[in-house]
Amino acid sequence: AFLERIEALDGRIRAFTLVTADLALQQAQEADQRLQRGEQVTPLTGIPLAIKDVICTKDIPTTCSSRMLEHFRPPFNATVMERLQAAGAVMLGKTNMDEFAMGSSTEHSAFFPTHNPWDLERTPGGSSGGSAAAVAAGMAPGALGSDTGGSIRQPAALCNVVGLKPTYGRVSRFGLVAFASSLDQIGPFARTARDAALLLQAIAGPDPRDSTCSATPVPDYTAELTGEIRGLRIGVPVEYWEAPGMDPGVARVGQEAVNRLRELGAEIREVSLPHTRYGVAAYYIIAPAEASANLARYDGVKYGYSYRDTSDMWEALDKTRQYGFGPEVKRRIMLGTYVLSAGYYDAYYKQAQKVRALIAQDFERAFEQCDVLVSPASPTVAFKLGEKLSDPYQMYLNDVFTIPANLAGICGISIPSGFSEGLPVGLQILGNAFAEATILRVADAFQ
Ligand code: GLN
Repeated sequence: AFLERIEALDGRIRAFTLVTADLALQQAQEADQRLQRGEQVTPLTGIPLAIKDVICTKDIPTTCSSRMLEHFRPPFNATVMERLQAAGAVMLGKTNMDEFAMGSSTEHSAFFPTHNPWDLERTPGGSSGGSAAAVAAGMAPGALGSDTGGSIRQPAALCNVVGLKPTYGRVSRFGLVAFASSLDQIGPFARTARDAALLLQAIAGPDPRDSTCSATPVPDYTAELTGEIRGLRIGVPVEYWEAPGMDPGVARVGQEAVNRLRELGAEIREVSLPHTRYGVAAYYIIAPAEASANLARYDGVKYGYSYRDTSDMWEALDKTRQYGFGPEVKRRIMLGTYVLSAGYYDAYYKQAQKVRALIAQDFERAFEQCDVLVSPASPTVAFKLGEKLSDPYQMYLNDVFTIPANLAGICGISIPSGFSEGLPVGLQILGNAFAEATILRVADAFQ
């Protein structure tokens, strides 16, 4: 049924870079057989999922929506794929994204933009726009994405689905093509908080192949969905509501969501996260710095696209990167190498790391007084295709509310919370490190 829906809709939405129909049917059949043989099944057995094309799938193209990896077939699976397969999940295909996860609209895909199912002339957000659009259009009941500065939460908000960024270290990054290694996390998209909890359950937990993956035990997430949030202390960070570029319609829907949480019995308090306004600036130093180092591996020698029409090694390297990378990726590499260069390191990179520590401290103080924090996930509703494409700064500002959580390493979720002018608005719920069960409980109670 999901393959039929993809067939019917994806010509217009373009969420998928690849539909693995044969594999999906084969995996579905195996799931049926597992059931018939009375073997152990999990809540994900036979459940079809869409996978962002930044997650390595053995022998199946993993392109990062880049010319550089257009023909790359990883010889191994990401840890999350191994875990989903062990749980009996079915893969429907790989989803479109901003090239190497750099962007907020999925327009930076080297192949084609993805369209927002709510209005085909608008973007689904990004960079995991394909995964968000696939779930929103009912082409998949769940999906995986990655979030470095908001790439799960922002597209979830703009497409009216649930999107969860786990705590840094909650989910293994082994087999996630690296963008900014100190910020990247894989997380689920779903229709409901409960489904997101089931997906997180399957993929979370320690992994010897990722030394940054935490040994903290994984709780039973669905067991904590009690529907009860009475007495829970919910902080409303003032800075998130006064941000420049905040759409009044989004603010209104956000305010109504806060009122609903109060009606559900939560205790609402105002809190301050004073360094919020420096988040985007610090992120656009740290993330490109790490990206410039991570993307140095694409040299045309080891794997990926290779320019070979020359006998000159340096020309081969230059042309490989000239033709293999798109403009946004090149911009990030330029930014990153600049801020890391001798003489500028102290002025930019080191300062940004200090700001990062201050932002983490803001959250530590806030979580002494509150259990969770809430804000809109994005300052605007879905914007028109092309609207921000020529103005990178405007594109970057769309992540003001999501970036601080990545800098601090804490968890966050975006859930559908209403509409402004017919377009979805997402409510972001932020939790302390490893408090996924709490944010899921609030999300579930709200839904
Ligand atoms: N939009 C942000 C960026 O362009 C975040 C992307 C992400 O989370 N992968 O870097």
